[in-house]
Amino acid sequence: MIRIDSTEPRLTYEIHAIASSFYPGEEVKIVTPESNVRDRVLRALSPTASIDINENESSVRFAPGTAPYAGGPGWKDKSPKDDIKRFIYTAFSKETGTTLPWGVLTGVRPVKPALSMLEEGRTGEEIEDKYISEYYVNRDKAALIYDIAVREHEILEKLMSPYSLYIGIPFCPTTCMYCSFASYPIGAYREMVDGYIDRVIEELEDIPGIFGDNRPDTVYIGGGTPTSLSAAQLDRLMSEVDRIFDTGSLLEYTVEAGRPDTVTEDRLTVLKEHGVSRISINPQSMNEKTLGFIGRSHSPADVERAFHLARELGFDNINADIILGLPGEGRAEVLNTMEKMASLSPESLTVHALAVKNAARMRKWIAEHGADSTVIEEGVPELVMEKAAGMGLSPYYLYRQKHMTGNLENTGYAREGRYGIYNVLMMEERQSIAAAGAGTVSKRVGPGRDIKRSVNVKELKEYMDRYQEMISRRREVFAPLRN
Ligand code: SF4
Repeated sequence: MIRIDSTEPRLTYEIHAIASSFYPGEEVKIVTPESNVRDRVLRALSPTASIDINENESSVRFAPGTAPYAGGPGWKDKSPKDDIKRFIYTAFSKETGTTLPWGVLTGVRPVKPALSMLEEGRTGEEIEDKYISEYYVNRDKAALIYDIAVREHEILEKLMSPYSLYIGIPFCPTTCMYCSFASYPIGAYREMVDGYIDRVIEELEDIPGIFGDNRPDTVYIGGGTPTSLSAAQLDRLMSEVDRIFDTGSLLEYTVEAGRPDTVTEDRLTVLKEHGVSRISINPQSMNEKTLGFIGRSHSPADVERAFHLARELGFDNINADIILGLPGEGRAEVLNTMEKMASLSPESLTVHALAVKNAARMRKWIAEHGADSTVIEEGVPELVMEKAAGMGLSPYYLYRQKHMTGNLENTGYAREGRYGIYNVLMMEERQSIAAAGAGTVSKRVGPGRDIKRSVNVKELKEYMDRYQEMISRRREVFAPLRN
Protein backbone atom coordinates (compact mmCIF):
# COMPACT_ATOMS: atom_id res chain seq x y z
CA MET A 1 0.00 0.00 0.00
CA ILE A 2 1.16 3.50 -0.82
CA ARG A 3 0.04 6.58 1.06
CA ILE A 4 -0.11 9.99 -0.58
CA ASP A 5 -0.95 12.96 1.62
CA SER A 6 -2.69 15.90 0.00
CA THR A 7 -3.94 19.17 1.43
CA GLU A 8 -6.64 19.46 -1.25
CA PRO A 9 -9.62 17.06 -0.94
CA ARG A 10 -11.20 18.37 -4.15
CA LEU A 11 -8.38 16.88 -6.23
CA THR A 12 -8.46 13.43 -4.63
CA TYR A 13 -9.76 11.64 -7.75
CA GLU A 14 -7.16 13.21 -10.04
CA ILE A 15 -4.26 12.67 -7.63
CA HIS A 16 -5.31 9.07 -7.07
CA ALA A 17 -5.52 8.42 -10.81
CA ILE A 18 -2.08 9.91 -11.48
CA ALA A 19 -0.33 8.32 -8.48
CA SER A 20 -1.88 4.86 -9.12
CA SER A 21 -0.56 4.96 -12.66
CA PHE A 22 2.97 5.80 -11.49
CA TYR A 23 2.92 2.93 -8.97
CA PRO A 24 1.27 0.04 -10.88
CA GLY A 25 0.45 -2.98 -8.78
CA GLU A 26 0.23 -0.87 -5.60
CA GLU A 27 -2.89 0.04 -3.74
CA VAL A 28 -2.76 3.83 -3.46
CA LYS A 29 -4.54 5.67 -0.65
CA ILE A 30 -4.94 9.42 -0.60
CA VAL A 31 -5.10 11.02 2.83
CA THR A 32 -6.45 14.58 3.08
CA PRO A 33 -7.30 16.74 6.08
CA GLU A 34 -10.90 15.54 5.68
CA SER A 35 -10.02 11.83 5.73
CA ASN A 36 -11.07 9.84 8.72
CA VAL A 37 -8.35 7.18 8.61
CA ARG A 38 -9.45 4.13 10.56
CA ASP A 39 -7.06 1.65 8.94
CA ARG A 40 -4.18 1.21 11.40
CA VAL A 41 -1.70 0.14 8.71
CA LEU A 42 -2.48 3.26 6.68
CA ARG A 43 -2.24 5.48 9.75
CA ALA A 44 1.22 4.13 10.57
CA LEU A 45 2.48 4.36 6.98
CA SER A 46 4.84 7.20 6.02
CA PRO A 47 3.59 9.04 2.94
CA THR A 48 5.40 8.25 -0.30
CA ALA A 49 4.56 11.80 -1.35
CA SER A 50 3.07 14.84 0.37
CA ILE A 51 1.25 17.27 -1.88
CA ASP A 52 0.69 20.77 -0.62
CA ILE A 53 -1.74 22.91 -2.60
CA ASN A 54 -2.61 26.31 -1.24
CA GLU A 55 -3.87 29.59 -2.67
CA ASN A 56 -0.47 30.72 -3.85
CA GLU A 57 1.43 27.64 -4.91
CA SER A 58 1.63 23.89 -4.91
CA SER A 59 4.52 21.59 -4.10
CA VAL A 60 5.22 17.85 -3.92
CA ARG A 61 7.68 16.37 -1.44
CA PHE A 62 8.75 12.75 -1.65
CA ALA A 63 11.09 11.39 1.07
CA PRO A 64 11.04 13.51 4.25
CA GLY A 65 14.06 15.81 4.39
CA THR A 66 14.49 15.94 0.60
CA ALA A 67 13.93 19.11 -1.41
CA PRO A 68 10.32 19.39 -2.63
CA TYR A 69 9.27 19.97 -6.21
CA ALA A 70 8.03 23.51 -5.63
CA GLY A 71 6.67 26.48 -7.53
CA GLY A 72 3.50 24.85 -8.88
CA PRO A 73 0.35 26.94 -9.42
CA GLY A 74 -1.89 27.75 -6.48
CA TRP A 75 -5.63 27.11 -6.38
CA LYS A 76 -7.87 30.08 -5.80
CA ASP A 77 -11.58 30.43 -6.55
CA LYS A 78 -11.22 29.72 -10.24
CA SER A 79 -9.14 26.61 -10.22
CA PRO A 80 -6.37 26.00 -12.76
CA LYS A 81 -6.99 22.30 -12.17
CA ASP A 82 -5.22 21.21 -15.35
CA ASP A 83 -2.12 23.26 -14.49
CA ILE A 84 -1.95 21.65 -11.06
CA LYS A 85 -2.41 18.18 -12.56
CA ARG A 86 0.44 18.86 -14.98
CA PHE A 87 2.65 20.04 -12.13
CA ILE A 88 1.91 16.97 -9.99
CA TYR A 89 2.40 14.69 -13.00
CA THR A 90 5.81 16.26 -13.74
CA ALA A 91 6.93 15.85 -10.12
CA PHE A 92 5.97 12.15 -10.08
CA SER A 93 7.48 11.63 -13.50
CA LYS A 94 10.85 13.12 -12.46
CA GLU A 95 10.85 11.23 -9.19
CA THR A 96 10.05 7.83 -10.72
CA GLY A 97 11.91 8.37 -14.00
CA THR A 98 8.85 7.27 -16.00
CA THR A 99 6.15 8.82 -18.13
CA LEU A 100 2.54 7.67 -18.56
CA PRO A 101 1.03 6.85 -21.94
CA TRP A 102 -2.14 8.75 -21.03
CA GLY A 103 -0.30 11.64 -19.34
CA VAL A 104 -2.64 13.73 -17.20
CA LEU A 105 -5.84 12.48 -18.85
CA THR A 106 -7.66 11.01 -15.89
CA GLY A 107 -11.24 11.08 -17.23
CA VAL A 108 -13.15 8.17 -18.72
CA ARG A 109 -13.73 9.74 -22.16
CA PRO A 110 -10.34 10.68 -23.61
CA VAL A 111 -11.64 11.01 -27.19
CA LYS A 112 -14.24 13.65 -26.37
CA PRO A 113 -11.97 16.72 -26.68
CA ALA A 114 -10.55 15.39 -29.98
CA LEU A 115 -14.04 14.91 -31.39
CA SER A 116 -15.03 18.47 -30.45
CA MET A 117 -11.84 19.84 -32.04
CA LEU A 118 -12.49 17.85 -35.19
CA GLU A 119 -16.00 19.28 -35.39
CA GLU A 120 -14.55 22.78 -35.00
CA GLY A 121 -12.47 22.09 -38.10
CA ARG A 122 -9.10 21.58 -36.43
CA THR A 123 -6.56 19.45 -38.29
CA GLY A 124 -5.22 16.09 -37.19
CA GLU A 125 -1.86 17.67 -36.49
CA GLU A 126 -3.40 20.34 -34.26
CA ILE A 127 -5.39 17.73 -32.35
CA GLU A 128 -2.44 15.43 -31.79
CA ASP A 129 -0.24 18.38 -30.78
CA LYS A 130 -2.74 19.45 -28.14
CA TYR A 131 -2.88 15.96 -26.66
CA ILE A 132 0.90 15.74 -26.55
CA SER A 133 1.69 19.25 -25.26
CA GLU A 134 -1.27 19.86 -22.93
CA TYR A 135 -2.31 16.42 -21.79
CA TYR A 136 1.22 14.87 -21.93
CA VAL A 137 -0.20 11.91 -23.87
CA ASN A 138 2.40 9.91 -25.80
CA ARG A 139 2.55 10.03 -29.62
CA ASP A 140 1.01 6.59 -30.15
CA LYS A 141 -1.99 7.33 -27.98
CA ALA A 142 -2.44 10.78 -29.56
CA ALA A 143 -2.49 9.17 -33.01
CA LEU A 144 -4.93 6.49 -31.79
CA ILE A 145 -7.23 9.16 -30.35
CA TYR A 146 -7.30 11.08 -33.61
CA ASP A 147 -7.93 7.92 -35.60
CA ILE A 148 -10.89 7.02 -33.38
CA ALA A 149 -12.26 10.58 -33.37
CA VAL A 150 -12.41 10.52 -37.19
CA ARG A 151 -14.28 7.21 -37.15
CA GLU A 152 -16.65 8.33 -34.39
CA HIS A 153 -17.39 11.52 -36.30
CA GLU A 154 -18.51 9.47 -39.33
CA ILE A 155 -20.64 7.19 -37.16
CA LEU A 156 -22.33 10.05 -35.30
CA GLU A 157 -23.22 11.81 -38.52
CA LYS A 158 -25.72 9.01 -39.17
CA LEU A 159 -27.85 9.89 -36.14
CA MET A 160 -31.24 11.35 -36.96
CA SER A 161 -33.38 11.01 -33.85
CA PRO A 162 -33.05 12.87 -30.56
CA TYR A 163 -32.68 9.61 -28.66
CA SER A 164 -31.78 5.95 -28.37
CA LEU A 165 -33.26 3.32 -26.12
CA TYR A 166 -31.54 1.12 -23.51
CA ILE A 167 -33.20 -1.75 -21.64
CA GLY A 168 -31.42 -3.44 -18.73
CA ILE A 169 -32.01 -7.11 -17.90
CA PRO A 170 -30.16 -7.80 -14.66
CA PHE A 171 -30.05 -11.61 -14.78
CA CYS A 172 -27.15 -13.91 -15.62
CA PRO A 173 -26.54 -17.65 -15.37
CA THR A 174 -23.95 -17.10 -12.59
CA THR A 175 -22.13 -14.06 -11.22
CA CYS A 176 -18.65 -13.46 -12.61
CA MET A 177 -15.97 -12.77 -10.02
CA TYR A 178 -15.17 -9.30 -11.38
CA CYS A 179 -18.80 -8.22 -11.84
CA SER A 180 -20.08 -4.97 -10.37
CA PHE A 181 -23.14 -4.60 -12.62
CA ALA A 182 -26.74 -5.19 -11.63
CA SER A 183 -26.72 -8.98 -12.02
CA TYR A 184 -28.71 -11.71 -10.31
CA PRO A 185 -28.26 -15.47 -10.91
CA ILE A 186 -31.34 -16.42 -12.89
CA GLY A 187 -31.76 -19.79 -11.17
CA ALA A 188 -32.38 -18.18 -7.80
CA TYR A 189 -34.48 -15.28 -9.14
CA ARG A 190 -36.55 -17.04 -11.80
CA GLU A 191 -39.84 -16.28 -10.09
CA MET A 192 -39.21 -12.55 -10.20
CA VAL A 193 -38.46 -12.37 -13.92
CA ASP A 194 -42.01 -11.98 -15.26
CA GLY A 195 -42.80 -9.29 -12.71
CA TYR A 196 -39.59 -7.54 -13.66
CA ILE A 197 -40.51 -7.59 -17.36
CA ASP A 198 -43.96 -6.15 -16.49
CA ARG A 199 -42.34 -3.21 -14.74
CA VAL A 200 -39.85 -2.58 -17.53
CA ILE A 201 -42.74 -2.50 -20.01
CA GLU A 202 -44.53 0.06 -17.83
CA GLU A 203 -41.37 2.15 -17.82
CA LEU A 204 -41.12 1.87 -21.61
CA GLU A 205 -44.74 2.98 -22.07
CA ASP A 206 -43.82 6.36 -20.62
CA ILE A 207 -40.99 7.10 -23.07
CA PRO A 208 -42.81 7.99 -26.34
CA GLY A 209 -44.58 10.80 -24.46
CA ILE A 210 -41.19 12.42 -24.00
CA PHE A 211 -40.00 12.24 -27.59
CA GLY A 212 -43.25 12.62 -29.48
CA ASP A 213 -43.23 11.13 -32.97
CA ASN A 214 -39.50 10.53 -33.02
CA ARG A 215 -38.46 6.94 -33.19
CA PRO A 216 -35.26 5.84 -31.44
CA ASP A 217 -32.14 5.61 -33.60
CA THR A 218 -30.86 2.52 -31.83
CA VAL A 219 -32.16 0.00 -29.32
CA TYR A 220 -29.78 -1.80 -26.98
CA ILE A 221 -30.90 -4.58 -24.65
CA GLY A 222 -28.06 -5.20 -22.20
CA GLY A 223 -27.56 -6.18 -18.62
CA GLY A 224 -26.80 -8.61 -17.16
CA THR A 225 -27.40 -11.17 -19.84
CA PRO A 226 -30.74 -10.59 -21.60
CA THR A 227 -30.59 -14.08 -23.11
CA SER A 228 -30.88 -15.49 -19.59
CA LEU A 229 -34.61 -14.93 -20.17
CA SER A 230 -36.50 -17.77 -21.81
CA ALA A 231 -37.36 -17.46 -25.51
CA ALA A 232 -41.00 -16.78 -24.52
CA GLN A 233 -40.00 -14.03 -22.10
CA LEU A 234 -37.70 -12.43 -24.68
CA ASP A 235 -40.51 -12.60 -27.22
CA ARG A 236 -42.96 -10.92 -24.84
CA LEU A 237 -40.54 -8.10 -24.01
CA MET A 238 -39.47 -7.51 -27.59
CA SER A 239 -43.05 -7.62 -28.90
CA GLU A 240 -43.89 -4.86 -26.44
CA VAL A 241 -40.86 -2.87 -27.62
CA ASP A 242 -42.17 -3.24 -31.20
CA ARG A 243 -45.66 -2.16 -30.12
CA ILE A 244 -44.51 0.89 -28.14
CA PHE A 245 -41.77 2.13 -30.49
CA ASP A 246 -41.30 2.32 -34.23
CA THR A 247 -38.52 -0.25 -34.58
CA GLY A 248 -38.98 -0.71 -38.32
CA SER A 249 -36.01 1.36 -39.47
CA LEU A 250 -33.54 1.39 -36.61
CA LEU A 251 -29.89 2.16 -37.34
CA GLU A 252 -28.98 -0.67 -34.97
CA TYR A 253 -30.73 -3.16 -32.71
CA THR A 254 -28.35 -4.86 -30.30
CA VAL A 255 -29.03 -7.60 -27.82
CA GLU A 256 -26.27 -8.86 -25.55
CA ALA A 257 -26.18 -12.62 -25.65
CA GLY A 258 -23.04 -12.27 -23.55
CA ARG A 259 -22.93 -15.67 -21.95
CA PRO A 260 -22.54 -18.37 -24.60
CA ASP A 261 -24.31 -20.86 -22.35
CA THR A 262 -27.52 -18.85 -22.92
CA VAL A 263 -27.25 -18.88 -26.72
CA THR A 264 -29.87 -21.34 -27.93
CA GLU A 265 -31.69 -21.72 -31.22
CA ASP A 266 -35.09 -20.71 -29.82
CA ARG A 267 -33.72 -17.52 -28.26
CA LEU A 268 -31.71 -16.53 -31.34
CA THR A 269 -34.78 -17.17 -33.51
CA VAL A 270 -36.77 -14.72 -31.37
CA LEU A 271 -34.03 -12.09 -31.75
CA LYS A 272 -34.00 -12.56 -35.51
CA GLU A 273 -37.78 -12.32 -35.74
CA HIS A 274 -37.68 -8.98 -33.95
CA GLY A 275 -35.06 -7.53 -36.28
CA VAL A 276 -32.01 -7.65 -34.02
CA SER A 277 -29.05 -6.61 -36.16
CA ARG A 278 -26.16 -7.03 -33.72
CA ILE A 279 -25.48 -9.46 -30.89
CA SER A 280 -22.66 -9.86 -28.45
CA ILE A 281 -21.24 -13.26 -27.54
CA ASN A 282 -18.56 -12.66 -24.95
CA PRO A 283 -15.86 -15.21 -24.24
CA GLN A 284 -13.72 -12.86 -22.02
CA SER A 285 -11.03 -15.54 -22.37
CA MET A 286 -10.70 -18.68 -24.45
CA ASN A 287 -8.77 -20.46 -21.69
CA GLU A 288 -10.75 -23.09 -19.81
CA LYS A 289 -8.89 -22.65 -16.53
CA THR A 290 -9.46 -18.88 -16.47
CA LEU A 291 -13.16 -19.22 -17.27
CA GLY A 292 -13.58 -21.63 -14.37
CA PHE A 293 -11.69 -19.35 -12.03
CA ILE A 294 -13.64 -16.19 -12.85
CA GLY A 295 -16.96 -17.96 -12.27
CA ARG A 296 -18.34 -18.24 -15.80
CA SER A 297 -20.32 -21.37 -16.32
CA HIS A 298 -19.15 -22.03 -19.86
CA SER A 299 -16.17 -23.40 -21.74
CA PRO A 300 -14.29 -22.13 -24.81
CA ALA A 301 -16.13 -24.84 -26.78
CA ASP A 302 -19.46 -23.24 -25.74
CA VAL A 303 -18.27 -19.96 -27.27
CA GLU A 304 -17.46 -21.70 -30.54
CA ARG A 305 -20.79 -23.52 -30.54
CA ALA A 306 -22.69 -20.25 -29.89
CA PHE A 307 -20.86 -18.46 -32.69
CA HIS A 308 -21.52 -21.24 -35.20
CA LEU A 309 -25.20 -21.40 -34.24
CA ALA A 310 -25.59 -17.62 -34.60
CA ARG A 311 -23.91 -17.72 -38.01
CA GLU A 312 -26.20 -20.54 -39.14
CA LEU A 313 -29.20 -18.45 -38.13
CA GLY A 314 -27.95 -15.53 -40.19
CA PHE A 315 -26.36 -13.16 -37.66
CA ASP A 316 -23.73 -11.22 -39.58
CA ASN A 317 -22.76 -8.69 -36.91
CA ILE A 318 -21.40 -10.39 -33.80
CA ASN A 319 -19.32 -8.64 -31.17
CA ALA A 320 -17.03 -10.47 -28.74
CA ASP A 321 -15.70 -9.01 -25.48
CA ILE A 322 -12.38 -10.10 -24.04
CA ILE A 323 -10.57 -8.99 -20.88
CA LEU A 324 -6.84 -8.43 -20.40
CA GLY A 325 -5.26 -8.80 -16.96
CA LEU A 326 -7.31 -11.77 -15.75
CA PRO A 327 -5.47 -13.75 -13.04
CA GLY A 328 -3.07 -16.31 -14.50
CA GLU A 329 -3.24 -14.84 -18.01
CA GLY A 330 0.06 -13.84 -19.62
CA ARG A 331 1.09 -13.45 -23.22
CA ALA A 332 0.59 -17.13 -24.12
CA GLU A 333 -3.00 -17.19 -22.80
CA VAL A 334 -3.94 -13.92 -24.54
CA LEU A 335 -2.38 -15.18 -27.76
CA ASN A 336 -4.51 -18.32 -27.52
CA THR A 337 -7.65 -16.22 -27.00
CA MET A 338 -6.81 -14.00 -29.97
CA GLU A 339 -6.08 -16.95 -32.24
CA LYS A 340 -9.40 -18.58 -31.32
CA MET A 341 -11.12 -15.25 -31.91
CA ALA A 342 -9.51 -14.94 -35.32
CA SER A 343 -10.91 -18.34 -36.25
CA LEU A 344 -14.42 -17.20 -35.23
CA SER A 345 -14.01 -13.91 -37.06
CA PRO A 346 -16.32 -11.59 -35.07
CA GLU A 347 -17.33 -8.35 -36.79
CA SER A 348 -16.24 -6.46 -33.67
CA LEU A 349 -14.04 -7.13 -30.70
CA THR A 350 -14.15 -5.13 -27.49
CA VAL A 351 -10.95 -5.39 -25.49
CA HIS A 352 -11.24 -4.48 -21.82
CA ALA A 353 -8.44 -4.03 -19.33
CA LEU A 354 -9.60 -5.67 -16.11
CA ALA A 355 -11.23 -3.09 -13.82
CA VAL A 356 -12.29 -4.48 -10.47
CA LYS A 357 -14.67 -2.21 -8.62
CA ASN A 358 -15.33 -2.33 -4.90
CA ALA A 359 -18.59 -4.26 -5.34
CA ALA A 360 -16.89 -7.17 -7.14
CA ARG A 361 -15.98 -10.45 -5.42
CA MET A 362 -12.58 -10.32 -7.07
CA ARG A 363 -11.69 -7.27 -4.96
CA LYS A 364 -11.32 -9.52 -1.92
CA TRP A 365 -9.22 -12.01 -3.89
CA ILE A 366 -6.88 -9.23 -5.04
CA ALA A 367 -6.60 -7.90 -1.48
CA GLU A 368 -5.44 -11.39 -0.44
CA HIS A 369 -3.17 -12.06 -3.43
CA GLY A 370 -1.76 -8.59 -4.08
CA ALA A 371 -2.60 -6.06 -6.77
CA ASP A 372 0.19 -7.41 -9.00
CA SER A 373 -1.73 -10.70 -9.41
CA THR A 374 -3.73 -9.05 -12.20
CA VAL A 375 -0.99 -7.32 -14.20
CA ILE A 376 -1.07 -7.08 -17.96
CA GLU A 377 2.24 -8.36 -19.29
CA GLU A 378 4.34 -5.93 -21.28
CA GLY A 379 3.67 -6.16 -24.99
CA VAL A 380 0.22 -7.77 -24.56
CA PRO A 381 -1.85 -4.69 -25.56
CA GLU A 382 0.31 -4.30 -28.68
CA LEU A 383 -0.13 -7.99 -29.47
CA VAL A 384 -3.91 -7.63 -29.23
CA MET A 385 -3.90 -4.53 -31.42
CA GLU A 386 -1.80 -6.32 -34.03
CA LYS A 387 -4.03 -9.40 -34.01
CA ALA A 388 -7.18 -7.26 -34.23
CA ALA A 389 -5.70 -5.49 -37.25
CA GLY A 390 -4.93 -8.92 -38.73
CA MET A 391 -8.64 -9.75 -38.35
CA GLY A 392 -9.52 -6.65 -40.38
CA LEU A 393 -10.72 -4.71 -37.32
CA SER A 394 -9.99 -1.01 -36.65
CA PRO A 395 -10.37 0.88 -33.37
CA TYR A 396 -13.62 2.88 -33.33
CA TYR A 397 -14.30 3.75 -29.71
CA LEU A 398 -12.33 3.92 -26.54
CA TYR A 399 -12.90 4.66 -22.88
CA ARG A 400 -11.09 4.41 -19.60
CA GLN A 401 -12.32 3.37 -16.18
CA LYS A 402 -11.45 3.76 -12.55
CA HIS A 403 -9.46 0.85 -11.04
CA MET A 404 -8.17 -0.20 -14.47
CA THR A 405 -5.27 -2.60 -14.63
CA GLY A 406 -2.09 -1.20 -16.13
CA ASN A 407 -3.24 2.40 -16.77
CA LEU A 408 -4.75 1.15 -20.02
CA GLU A 409 -8.01 1.66 -21.85
CA ASN A 410 -10.95 -0.31 -23.22
CA THR A 411 -11.00 -0.30 -26.99
CA GLY A 412 -13.71 -1.34 -29.39
CA TYR A 413 -12.43 -2.68 -32.73
CA ALA A 414 -14.72 -3.36 -35.66
CA ARG A 415 -14.90 -4.03 -39.33
CA GLU A 416 -15.88 -1.12 -41.55
CA GLY A 417 -19.66 -0.67 -41.39
CA ARG A 418 -20.00 -2.94 -38.37
CA TYR A 419 -19.26 -0.35 -35.68
CA GLY A 420 -21.38 -0.45 -32.53
CA ILE A 421 -23.30 2.81 -32.99
CA TYR A 422 -24.86 2.78 -29.52
CA ASN A 423 -21.41 2.38 -27.92
CA VAL A 424 -20.16 5.53 -29.62
CA LEU A 425 -23.16 7.72 -28.95
CA MET A 426 -23.25 6.63 -25.33
CA MET A 427 -19.55 7.28 -24.83
CA GLU A 428 -19.46 10.65 -26.56
CA GLU A 429 -22.79 11.77 -25.05
CA ARG A 430 -24.17 13.16 -28.33
CA GLN A 431 -27.71 11.85 -28.01
CA SER A 432 -30.20 11.41 -25.18
CA ILE A 433 -30.67 7.91 -23.87
CA ALA A 434 -33.98 6.74 -22.46
CA ALA A 435 -33.26 3.75 -20.26
CA ALA A 436 -35.53 1.31 -18.47
CA GLY A 437 -34.74 -1.35 -15.90
CA ALA A 438 -32.81 -1.78 -12.65
CA GLY A 439 -29.47 0.02 -12.50
CA THR A 440 -29.95 1.82 -15.82
CA VAL A 441 -29.21 5.50 -16.42
CA SER A 442 -31.27 7.78 -18.64
CA LYS A 443 -29.42 10.81 -19.96
CA ARG A 444 -30.83 13.98 -21.42
CA VAL A 445 -28.33 15.73 -23.67
CA GLY A 446 -29.54 19.31 -23.68
CA PRO A 447 -28.44 22.44 -25.55
CA GLY A 448 -24.72 23.07 -25.28
CA ARG A 449 -24.33 19.35 -24.52
CA ASP A 450 -25.56 19.92 -21.00
CA ILE A 451 -26.12 16.44 -19.51
CA LYS A 452 -28.80 15.59 -16.96
CA ARG A 453 -29.09 12.07 -15.61
CA SER A 454 -31.85 10.01 -14.09
CA VAL A 455 -30.49 6.93 -12.33
CA ASN A 456 -32.65 3.88 -11.60
CA VAL A 457 -31.97 1.96 -8.41
CA LYS A 458 -29.76 -1.06 -8.92
CA GLU A 459 -31.11 -3.49 -6.36
CA LEU A 460 -33.75 -5.76 -7.92
CA LYS A 461 -36.33 -5.86 -5.14
CA GLU A 462 -36.00 -2.13 -4.60
CA TYR A 463 -36.53 -1.51 -8.32
CA MET A 464 -39.61 -3.74 -8.32
CA ASP A 465 -41.06 -1.74 -5.43
CA ARG A 466 -40.03 1.72 -6.63
CA TYR A 467 -40.17 1.56 -10.44
CA GLN A 468 -42.93 4.19 -10.57
CA GLU A 469 -40.65 6.57 -8.76
CA MET A 470 -38.03 5.84 -11.46
CA ILE A 471 -40.60 6.82 -14.11
CA SER A 472 -41.32 10.10 -12.31
CA ARG A 473 -37.62 10.79 -11.93
CA ARG A 474 -37.03 10.35 -15.64
CA ARG A 475 -40.05 12.52 -16.46
CA GLU A 476 -38.60 15.30 -14.36
CA VAL A 477 -35.20 15.12 -16.06
CA PHE A 478 -36.78 15.07 -19.53
CA ALA A 479 -39.51 17.59 -18.68
CA PRO A 480 -38.09 20.29 -21.02
CA LEU A 481 -38.59 17.90 -23.99
CA ARG A 482 -42.02 16.58 -23.04
CA ASN A 483 -44.95 17.50 -25.25
S1 SF4 B 1 -22.00 -11.77 -17.55
FE1 SF4 B 1 -21.57 -9.62 -17.19
S2 SF4 B 1 -23.32 -8.86 -16.00
FE2 SF4 B 1 -23.35 -11.11 -15.89
S3 SF4 B 1 -22.27 -11.62 -14.02
FE3 SF4 B 1 -20.76 -11.66 -15.69
S4 SF4 B 1 -19.88 -9.60 -15.73
FE4 SF4 B 1 -21.77 -9.51 -14.52
